[in-house]
Amino acid sequence: MLNVPAAAFPAPGSQQRAARGGRSKVPLKPGRSLMDWIRLTKSGKDLTGLKGRLIEVTEEELAKHNKTDDCWICIRGLVYNVTPYMEYHPGGEGELMKAAGADGTDLFDQVHRWVNYESMLKECLVGRMALKPIALPKESTSALSEEKKCLNGMLPESKIVGTSKSLAPSYDWFQTDCSVTVVVYTKQKGMNSEMVILDYEDSRLRGEIIIRDYSYLLNIELSNAVQEDIAVHVAEKVGKVEIVLKKIDNIPWKKLGQPLESHNSFIKRTDQGLYYRKCKLISKTDVTHDTKLFCLLLPQSTHFQVPVGQHVYLKQIVTGKEIVKPYTPVSCSLQTHFKEPSCHDGACLFLMIKIYPSGLFSSELDRLQIGDYIYVSNPEGSFQKSQVQTLEDLFLLAAGTGFTPMIKLLNYVLTNVNSLWTVKLMFFNKTEDDILWRDQLEQLILQDKRFEAQFILSEPSKEWNGKRGKISSSLLSEFFKRSKQDSKVLICICGSAPFTEQGERFLKDLGYCKEEIHSFTA
Ligand code: FAD
Ligand code: NAP
Repeated sequence: MLNVPAAAFPAPGSQQRAARGGRSKVPLKPGRSLMDWIRLTKSGKDLTGLKGRLIEVTEEELAKHNKTDDCWICIRGLVYNVTPYMEYHPGGEGELMKAAGADGTDLFDQVHRWVNYESMLKECLVGRMALKPIALPKESTSALSEEKKCLNGMLPESKIVGTSKSLAPSYDWFQTDCSVTVVVYTKQKGMNSEMVILDYEDSRLRGEIIIRDYSYLLNIELSNAVQEDIAVHVAEKVGKVEIVLKKIDNIPWKKLGQPLESHNSFIKRTDQGLYYRKCKLISKTDVTHDTKLFCLLLPQSTHFQVPVGQHVYLKQIVTGKEIVKPYTPVSCSLQTHFKEPSCHDGACLFLMIKIYPSGLFSSELDRLQIGDYIYVSNPEGSFQKSQVQTLEDLFLLAAGTGFTPMIKLLNYVLTNVNSLWTVKLMFFNKTEDDILWRDQLEQLILQDKRFEAQFILSEPSKEWNGKRGKISSSLLSEFFKRSKQDSKVLICICGSAPFTEQGERFLKDLGYCKEEIHSFTA
């Protein structure tokens, strides 16, 4: 279809040579080259006949458009009006007409799987196929047949439970001599790398793609071994996620692998179950007399970033029992110019954890030695960055280790939210010695004039000149003052459950509405 160099590409034996010896090119009329096509697509001409509207296309409707002067083709669930493209197609009208009014995915994949048709035919996009309801298949046999379908080039439909089917992602794969690329078509704009969580362990590839409250899962026992060094690319605008696996043996793969539990499912995120990977403790440093900063190294093949405001679960075996507790990863510093130290080849997770001498989990954590392992789950949490995107005032109300979610949030807003006027932190602790990162907070006050902090102690020493007491309506109203009347404000609260509940109540009494308050809870 496109001008593919004749010699070494595609590599012999690669998927891209699937149409070996077969297809012929037809001479195109003058003014019908690829460049002419690109010019036409950029001309602003209505190429679909729908004036930019996107529609849902039923199979019946698709079938009606099967003539050279009215030809629609479906590729991977998206329908294109290829009528204006007929004369530009190097393979000629005849080839395109083979898929007229039908699903051309198979044919397309046999001939030009590598062509970026999404971009080539962007202006011809009519809409998306209206999906038929899908009965939930029986686990093992249907998963196998789905896999088979995929390997034949047809994309399997995901097992969708309880959401709009048109949202469901799908996947595909191709290989070269030395790599295998798994491509997930999320059908979502605004994807980013935080939404992709990838693990590879004991020849099992597990990829979870988070789309709002839903999770799409790839869970496959790969047919051949791959290197630990796995690349993940996210094409944000088109919502395509590419997982590039490096082969170890450089031989052609007959299939991607064996589907495992819940493979290719698209279900509520909360129904997906937590996945844990083993992380290595690489450092442990004191923050205060009872709180430590733990640095955990993720496995090299793991890709995950914990979004602002989300927590993970740590899992340990304590006296023969599996115990799980939530913790909120933090940045390693409050100084925005401070770069996270590099952790060998992988990524690190920093956790600020208070050790309770009588605490079941934290005291066990404290006993971990450098080089020991602990299990870390996927991130969770309801906070969305969109809540702070156009904010003018951000008020943070923290008690003790309830400061942890505020750390990444502070770094994020101070570097990314241009509309921001003020960030005020009200930080409750028992004593001066309990204040986490007090030096860094005081430095930040000097560095950034938008930021203010107030430390309030419930058990202060006689020397303490600052505020004292417990959370109260008067303390809150004194400090949390909007930068202007009706400013766009968000108040984030975190501490023990009773502290958070009191905070919510006082703020509501002070006139803040539900949407202006976010409480961090598990
Ligand atoms: P436990 O055995 O549960 O009890 C420890 C001691 O604390 C005992 O002395 C007990 O009397 C007392 N205690 C029990 N419950 C509470 C309570 N709710 N408040 C105050 N004292 C109590 N902790 C961190 O240090 N860092 C974090 O980043 C962090 N993030 C969290 C994120 C979320 C979403 C949630 C819900 C909690 C978070 N926690 C965090 C708290 C953490 O999950 C544990 O509760 C904490 O480490 C205590 O566990 P433990 O098993 O050691 O203590
Ligand atoms: P702490 O030292 O016991 O207390 C810190 C401050 O909070 C003290 O001034 C204390 O006052 C005050 N406080 C505690 N409970 C209160 C209540 N019921 N009413 C009014 N004030 C109260 O705190 P900590 O040991 O660090 O515990 C932090 C809490 O935050 C834990 O419960 C932890 O689970 C929670 N946390 C939650 C998240 C999350 O994301 N949800 C994250 C991190 C931590 P007093 O001296 O009067 O008690």
